[in-house]
Formats: sequence, C-alpha cells, structure tokens
Amino acid sequence: MALRFFNTYSREIEEFEPRDPTARSIRMYTCGPTVYSRAHIGNFRAYIFEDLLQRHLELRGYKVHRVMNITDVEDKTIRGAREAGIPLQKFTEQFKDAFFEDAHMLRIKRADDYPAATDQRYIARMIEMISALISKGLAYQADDKSVYFRINKFPDYGKLAHFDLTQLQSTGRVKHDEYDKEHIGDFALWKAWDEADGDVKWDSPWGPGRPGWHIECSAMSMALLGDQIDIHCGGVDNIFPHHEAEIAQSEGVTGKKFVRYWLHCAHLLVDGQKMAKSLGNFYTVPDVLAKSYTGRELRYALLRVHYRVPLNFTWEGMNEARESLARIDDWLARLRQIAKSGNVQRSTANAQRPTTAFEDALDDDLNISAALGFLFESIRETNRAMDQNKMDAAPASEWLDWWKRINTVLDLEAEADVVVPHEVAQLAEERENARREKNWKRSDELRDRISALGWEVRDTKDGPKLTRGAGSA
Ligand SMILES: [Zn+2]
Repeated sequence: MALRFFNTYSREIEEFEPRDPTARSIRMYTCGPTVYSRAHIGNFRAYIFEDLLQRHLELRGYKVHRVMNITDVEDKTIRGAREAGIPLQKFTEQFKDAFFEDAHMLRIKRADDYPAATDQRYIARMIEMISALISKGLAYQADDKSVYFRINKFPDYGKLAHFDLTQLQSTGRVKHDEYDKEHIGDFALWKAWDEADGDVKWDSPWGPGRPGWHIECSAMSMALLGDQIDIHCGGVDNIFPHHEAEIAQSEGVTGKKFVRYWLHCAHLLVDGQKMAKSLGNFYTVPDVLAKSYTGRELRYALLRVHYRVPLNFTWEGMNEARESLARIDDWLARLRQIAKSGNVQRSTANAQRPTTAFEDALDDDLNISAALGFLFESIRETNRAMDQNKMDAAPASEWLDWWKRINTVLDLEAEADVVVPHEVAQLAEERENARREKNWKRSDELRDRISALGWEVRDTKDGPKLTRGAGSA
C-alpha cells in the first residue's frame, strides 16, 4: 500500500508523492519551540508525532532531511529576558538546553539542523526576503516604521486555514498600535525597534528592528531546504496565522509552491481540559518524571493516539502506558529465551508468523492505534503459543527480528543498562525467600519497601522481575 497522509491544505487524504520520487529523499520542516519557558507535554506530543512520521518514512526507505527551528526572538522571549534582567541570549539558552534534554528523555530523533532565528545568516536571509516582497508590492513599510505583508495582494491567503478574510475584517479588533496597517490581517515581517526591545535589534533597510515570527520560518526553511519542500508539520494552532503567513511569504518571493503536504497534530488535553497554568494541570517533562515515570513511558503515552485525534493525558493513562510496556518487555524476554534455546523439537507448523500489518497501518496516515493494536494482538497470540509449548526457536527469532524492525519506529525498548540498586535487589531477594517460606505478610512488607524506593516487583513465570515503579508518588 502506498503512503497516504491527510493534507491540511486540501483537507483530504492524499497519496504521498515526494517532489523527487527517484532520489527517495524528503525535505521536512517542523516548527520548533519558542524558548521563553520550558516546553510542556502538549508541545512534545507534536514533536513525538513528527518523530514518528520521520521514523516511518525512514522505515519505508526514504532519507529524511529534517529541519526544526528554534524561535529565540519574538515578543515572549524579549519580555522574559527583560523581566529576568539578563541578555536575550542568556535567557533563551537555558530553555534551549531544557528542550534538548527533554527531547532526549523522550527518545526523539535529532533533526539534521536546528537553526536559531537570531543567527546572523538567517537574519540576512529574512531581510533579503522582505526586500523582495516589498519590490513585488506584497509588502510595505507603514508609518510606524514596521514592514507588513499586504494580504490583499496575495489571493491564496487563507487557503490553508480555509479562512474567510472578510470575517477577519469584521471581527478583528484594531489595537492602537496597528492603526498604521492597511488591512487588519496584514502581519508584521519586520518590527521596528521600540524601547521595550532594549538592545535586541538588528540593522535593516527600514531602520533598526527585529524580524516577525513568521518570516523566521520561511527564511530558515528556504536557507536549509530550498524553495520547495515535501512536508511541513506543526500543531493545529500553527495553521493560522503562522503557516498561512509562511506560504504567503515563501510563495510571494519564489512564485513556486512552497509545501506539498501540510500535516498538523491535534491538541493535548489534561484530564479532559485544556492545559493551563491557572488550572494546575500544566505539565512539563520533568513534572512527569518527578512522579517516577520514565521518559519511555511518557513517550508511549504521547505516541499511542492517532495524531489527528485530541489526546487526553491522565495519570491513569501513564499507568496504562507502564503496563503496556511491561507486556512488551515480558514478551521480548520470553521470545529471547526460546530463540536462545535453539529448540526445534516442538510442533510449530501453525505458529503465527509476523506480517506487514504494523507498517501497513502506519502507511495509512500514521494510524498508530491500529499498528499498536496489531502489536498487542500478536503478543497475545504468540504468548498463547508459548504457553502451549507451540513456539520454537525459528518463529521466536522471526518475531524478534520483526520487533527490531518496528522498534526503529517505536523506539520503546527498555534500556538494557537499567541498573537495579543493590539495596533494592537485596530486598527483592529477601522477599523471594519470604515467599518460598509462604510468609505472605513479610513478603508484602518487603514489596512495600521496594515500592517506596521507586521500584516495582512483579512475579512472572520466570521469577520476580524488578522494574522502575511509581514509588510512593
Ligand atoms: Zn514555524
């Protein structure tokens, strides 16, 4: 089956045909974090969706060149630096570091490039683009000295968001500092310096100032990926005005179609509500890890729902993620044992063999729920075969090879180097002795002590297994 994606531009599922089908290389641009605070788990849901997309394309034999920008200059970063009383760069640096740390914990593959908007090379590119737009009559400098994009001169403006511009005019509120614009929907390409910007400013043909957020992405995408790209991703809240503006700017300059496929990830809710600091349901990656969950567990929880469906994050969901991963871990351990045994005596004529159902589901607009459904169905059936001694080394190895293949997409295998602390191992051994002596009270006490140390002991067919648990949280 061919790859198919839902294209926000057409609002339809389309067969995926890259710009250059023979080269099998894909240019992908993903809007990255605005580094004015630590990214929340809703941001990471989108980054994990993009990670899944890249990995699946790679599984299907494409080479992906992915760019993720870092927005380190816009209103919020400038305000943050001013309030903290430190230079902009110093202020944003801490959140850049935090972003990379969190992405690493969630096993998100690194992009090929992480261009920063304040990089002089890209500032020069932005200025170049704005000049081109002005010379084409698509932009103008207003009395406030800022430069705006003239949306009335770009007939396709609104096509991505399926947005009616006349509505924008009637409902839009004119802020006092926006009187200078010709149309309420005109957006800033270059913001003239004002006192609140402090020393954050660059020289330009229009006077000192700084770029608007939208032009940053157009310029960095063009600088690193060329005039036309295959896939552009982001969260649904990026569609308007950000991505709409990117199209207008890029196509306004080149006259060529900017993006072939626009893919957008739905929102993340927490306990059924929009995440908000005021509601106390605003979580970062460290907030989740502080409750003794692992990055792997959070990755699973954020990955398992189809990207176009809103994902409801709950602690119950985190526990389910833990249970699902434990099932995978146990299954792999059993398969490995059988594969190692080299046993070929058992009757395995009817043993289930891996199919391509997992990859096929992902071909269908990244249907991860169906793909995982197939994984767990396979686990159930192969476990049954193992229970009945109907699985020997050959099919077990086949399943392990299959796992290796699909895990290049999932990246959900347990770290091999998780070291059980000595104290925990000792308590587990004492507990095993207590169980052998059928001293259940003592065994339960020891389980509680192990749990208080942040570990969980589970009794399996192959003896007790220690995993990182929820601890006393
Ligand atoms: Zn962007």
